[in-house]
Amino acid sequence: MKYISTRGQAPELTFEEAMLTGLARDGGLYLPAEIPVMSQDEIAALAGLPYEEIAFRVMWPYVSGSFAEEEFKAIIARAYEGFGHDARAPLKQLNENHFLLELFHGPTLAFKDFAMQLIGQLFQVALKRRGDRVTIVGATSGDTGSAAIEAFRGLDAVDVFILFPHGRVSEVQRRQMTTPADSNVHALAVDGDFDDCQAALKDMFNDFDFRDGVKLAGVNSINFARVLAQIVYYFSAAVSLGAPHRKVSFTVPTGNFGDIFAGYLAKRMGLPIDRLVVATNQNDILHRCLSGEGYFKGETIPSISPSMDIQVSSNFERALYYAYGEDGSAVAQLMDELKNGGFNVSQGAMEALRESFDSGRMSEDETLETIKHTLAHSAELVCPHTAIGVKVGEDHRAADTPMITLATAHPAKFPAAVEKASGEHPPLPSRMSDLYERSERVTRIANELGTLEDHIRRHIAE
Ligand SMILES: *Cc1c(COP(=O)(O)O)cnc(C)c1O
Repeated sequence: MKYISTRGQAPELTFEEAMLTGLARDGGLYLPAEIPVMSQDEIAALAGLPYEEIAFRVMWPYVSGSFAEEEFKAIIARAYEGFGHDARAPLKQLNENHFLLELFHGPTLAFKDFAMQLIGQLFQVALKRRGDRVTIVGATSGDTGSAAIEAFRGLDAVDVFILFPHGRVSEVQRRQMTTPADSNVHALAVDGDFDDCQAALKDMFNDFDFRDGVKLAGVNSINFARVLAQIVYYFSAAVSLGAPHRKVSFTVPTGNFGDIFAGYLAKRMGLPIDRLVVATNQNDILHRCLSGEGYFKGETIPSISPSMDIQVSSNFERALYYAYGEDGSAVAQLMDELKNGGFNVSQGAMEALRESFDSGRMSEDETLETIKHTLAHSAELVCPHTAIGVKVGEDHRAADTPMITLATAHPAKFPAAVEKASGEHPPLPSRMSDLYERSERVTRIANELGTLEDHIRRHIAE
C-alpha cells in the first residue's frame, strides 16, 4: 500500500515511512492511496474472534509490505497485553438499543492507548531494523501525552517530548506525564492552550533544519498509524451487535477528529455504519461546520472535557480530502484560508460530509446532568467526554438501529467533574492507585518556537 498526502504535493511513501514521518512535507496528512474493502463474508467471519485477531485482519492490508505477517501479529499481541480487560474493547448496554464501547482499559485509561501502544511496538521494530533513532514530539490536551509517554518510555531508539498546556490538564493526566522516571521522557508545560501547543508542533515539522537535525517524528493523531489502530474497534463492536447483517451507528466524543475519522474509514471498508455522529463540547467548530456555518476558528474555552478543548481539528482535513473528491489542491487552498480564520465548505462537499456525519453539541451543564442521569438510569459512571457522547448519541438514536457511543476515558481520569455531577468519587483501578504519591518531573516553558526547539536539541540523548 502506498500513502499519499491530502495536499497532493508530497512524495508517496510506504506505510512505514508515513508512520515514521507523521506530517507530510507539503503540510498535508498521509492517507492510503486506496481504501481497502472487506467483503460481507470477511466481515461476518470476524464475529466471535479475539480482539487481536480482528485487529490483524482489519489492519493487514494497510501495513503489508512494511511488516511480515508473523511480525505484525506479534506486535499486536504485545500492544494489547497490558490492557486490564480480556475483551480489550468491551460493550455495555445503556438502554434498549444504546451501547457504550469501553475504550479505557489500557495503561493510561483513555482510548488513545489503543493506537499509542501499537505505535510504540511498530516504531521499535521498524527503528531496530533500520539501526536508527528518532525524536518524538507530541502536543496534547492531556490524554495523547500520557498515552505516548507510557508507550515509548524506556525505548532506547526514541526520545519523547510532550507539550501540554500548563494548568489546563487534569491532575491525573499531568501526573501520568510527569511521574515516569525514564530518562528518554520529557514533559513540557507550555504557557498557552492546546491550540498553541499544536501550532508549535506544526511549526517544528515545517522547520526542515530542525526536523531533519533531530529526526523529528510525530505521534499526534495526524499520524496515520494512529487512525489505523482505531478502525479496529468499530469492526469488533459492530459485528458483536449483528453486523454485517444489521446496520449500527456510532457517536464519538470528538476533538481532533481522529477517532471518528477511523469510523469513516471502517464504513468505506464495507462495515455497514448508518450514521457517524460527532459530539462536541462548547468548543464546537465541528458542530458549527457540519450544521452548514463554515469552518471558522473561535477562541478555545476551557471545559470539564479538556481533551476536546480545541478549535482547529487537524484530522478534519482528511475528511475534507474525500469530501472534495480527493482534490489535494482544493484542500491546500482551504488550509491557506484557515490561517486567516476559516473557510466556507462548498455545497458539494457539504453534501458528501452529510452522507456520513451528523453532529451535536453539549453545554457544561448538560454534560454534568448526563453524568448524573446515566448513573441513575444505567448504573454507569461515565467521564465528561463520554457523557457528551451519551447525550448526543441519545438525541440521534433511531429505533431500529443500535447506537454505539465510544466511552473515551475512565471516569477516574476526571474525578473532580464526575464527583461534582454524581456525588460519587470514581476510584483509580488498583494497578495505578499510587499515582498521587509518585514524584513529578516537568519543565515549564514559554510558548515560543526557538525556546522549544533549543530545549529539545539540548535534551536529546547522543
Ligand atoms: C482525545 C480524546 C477525545 C477526542 O478524540 P479525537 O480523536 O481527538 O477526536 C475525546 N475524549 C477523550 C477522553 C480523549 O482523550
